[in-house]
Amino acid sequence: MNRLKLHFSRYSFYVILGIIIVSTVVTVMSIHAAYNYRTIKNGKIADMHENSRLTVAALHKNVAGMMAAYAVNDYETLLRNEMDRRDNYAVIVEDYNMGKILGQESYRTGQIRDGAWNAIDFDSDNPEHVKALTEAYSSESHDILTPQGKKIGTITVYLSDRTLNEAFRQLIVDTLINTLVISVFLIVLLFITIRLFVLKPLSDIVATIDEGNAQGIPLKPVPGEGSREIFALADKMNWMINTIKDSQKALEHQATHDTLTGLANRTLFDDRLEQGILKAKRNRTRLALLFIDLDHFKEINDSMGHKVGDKALKIVTRRLEKTIREEDTLARLGGDEFTVILEGIHEPQDASVLAEKILKALSEPMTIENRVFYSGCSIGISLYPDNGDLPDDLLKYADAAMYNAKNEGRNTFQYYSTDMTERAIERVVMETNLREGLKKGEIVVHYQPQVDGRNGTIVGMEALVRWQSPEYGLVSPAKFIPIAESSGLIVDLDRHVMKTAMIQIRHWYAAGFNPGVMAMNLAAKQLQQKDFIDYLEKLIAETGCKPEWIELEVTESQIMIHPEEAIQILSRLSDIGVRLAVDDFGTGYSSLSYLKKFPINKLKIDRTFVQDLPHDEEDAAITKAIVALARNLNLSILAEGVETPEQQAFLIENGCAHIQGYLYSKPLPTDEMEALLSNTLG
Ligand code: C2E
Ligand code: CA
Ligand code: CA
Repeated sequence: MNRLKLHFSRYSFYVILGIIIVSTVVTVMSIHAAYNYRTIKNGKIADMHENSRLTVAALHKNVAGMMAAYAVNDYETLLRNEMDRRDNYAVIVEDYNMGKILGQESYRTGQIRDGAWNAIDFDSDNPEHVKALTEAYSSESHDILTPQGKKIGTITVYLSDRTLNEAFRQLIVDTLINTLVISVFLIVLLFITIRLFVLKPLSDIVATIDEGNAQGIPLKPVPGEGSREIFALADKMNWMINTIKDSQKALEHQATHDTLTGLANRTLFDDRLEQGILKAKRNRTRLALLFIDLDHFKEINDSMGHKVGDKALKIVTRRLEKTIREEDTLARLGGDEFTVILEGIHEPQDASVLAEKILKALSEPMTIENRVFYSGCSIGISLYPDNGDLPDDLLKYADAAMYNAKNEGRNTFQYYSTDMTERAIERVVMETNLREGLKKGEIVVHYQPQVDGRNGTIVGMEALVRWQSPEYGLVSPAKFIPIAESSGLIVDLDRHVMKTAMIQIRHWYAAGFNPGVMAMNLAAKQLQQKDFIDYLEKLIAETGCKPEWIELEVTESQIMIHPEEAIQILSRLSDIGVRLAVDDFGTGYSSLSYLKKFPINKLKIDRTFVQDLPHDEEDAAITKAIVALARNLNLSILAEGVETPEQQAFLIENGCAHIQGYLYSKPLPTDEMEALLSNTLG
């Protein structure tokens, strides 16, 4: 059965259907022809008998008279005429009277048809004629009587089946032609229908499956055009494909995830770590690997049983998931060991920020089955590329660091290298102090004048934050801004600086000074705050500042991360009327096409280009190019970090007259800045 099916399946549907159609039509037409033949035959036979009856009726009376009068020639003529009029095979008369005269029993004469169906005289001595008569289809004899009732002869009409055969032949030809025409018509009709509704949709399905992936799973849904049945087929196939895809996904998930917690397992972890290292290598960033081991899990498991242990692991998982960023990989390597792969970090200390958060999250008590447990954890941290660049090494080092953390008394973290741990701790302490310092008013603002180099007038100033710490002294922003950024403190800190600077400039204007524009730095996080624009507008209203006194500095890298979003937010800022400057220009990766779209007013040439002017040829070329670009885009231009008269001369000569740098002044505390303002006034 199976073999037969296979055998048939190699033929095209068209061939199979062609055979079926032809044989069906042939059978139907044959039955039809057979029926027709019978009807025709019966009709013909009836016709022939009618003919012979009419012949006999026409001849009988006259022939009887002629026989009685021995008028042989006359009735022979009569017979000839009769043969011409009707379609009989032969008409033969036996004349007893004439026979007597000739000394025979009877005189036989009449007409018979030859091979060409012409009537000729019957010759009773010709054996062929006699034989032809015996082979005739049928015959009918009638006695010829005198008026007195005496039998004087017979008249016999012979019939041939020739006409019958002719009719049959015609029938066969007609049937064949009909069969052919109907078959061709049906085949063409079926061909078109099948092609349109079955075969074309089927080959579309096959084509879609052909374009599938390596496992033969189509990438697009299987099309279901054509007929309802094809639609149903495609629908079922798609359902099947989705089921297979789902179970493939489930299998894949099972193979790469931990069943208890749903976290990545060792396999996926290895893969992610390897990918992460490659990515870090490409992007020249760091990667941190955190090895987390729960501190008192064994006790919980041993004393309360595995069920409670499992629940504890699930709670820990949920807390870890909440603590890390979405792009970080959290994995469970087994037992109570978890790892986090932290990608795209820049400073080793960034990892400790997360470690702190994890320590805090896991030190919260857990309630399981109405009992409260305390676990906590120890964390080891290794770093790419600082500690190594092989996945296995990083894991080994993080594990070793974790044991150090355990030895340090648990519930703490350790870097693989001890000085990193020290720095991290220092940083944590600093963060706490900074938070306190912001509250206690230790954050102050210094102002660095911006000057028109051609005549020495002050055109504006940049507000630069300082931390006046009782512990560390005057801390530079380079030290504490990164800490403020990673802890989220930067938003409040920047707002504090903005508020201070805006109150100050408003005061200077009110006091009759001419401080120009107040430039303020914005952290990326600040721009991302949903309420930032509202806050700024409120601040402008509250302090009584005019928007055109304010200039906000953003860096290239800050706006190029999400350029489209940046365009929107910068446009809204520009609508308020504040000015926008691109800080550190030349160090990022601005694309010119975006630069044209940003509603900015100013480019600040970065200090690194100014530093070696005018001797460094490359820097000189870049500086000239930036000035040309600014002129082209109709932007003002200012050079930062100008320290020498030579630098200033070069810049002025090449079209950058506005200067900021130690040549004029370092950033100054408020009172010194005020003194400078009154000097230039006077
Ligand atoms: P920046 O915006 O590029 O600021 C210019 C930096 O160059 C300032 O350093 C300034 O003191 C320094 N500088 C100015 N002229 C010269 C010069 O002639 N020679 C040299 N060597 N340096 C010069 P500062 O004040 O230490 O600030 C460092 C960075 O900290 C700033 O770079 C800015 O990115 C950030 N920053 C400062 N204040 C704030 C703030 O309020 N908020 C935010 N988010 N960041 C700030
Ligand atoms: Ca700046
Ligand atoms: Ca700058």
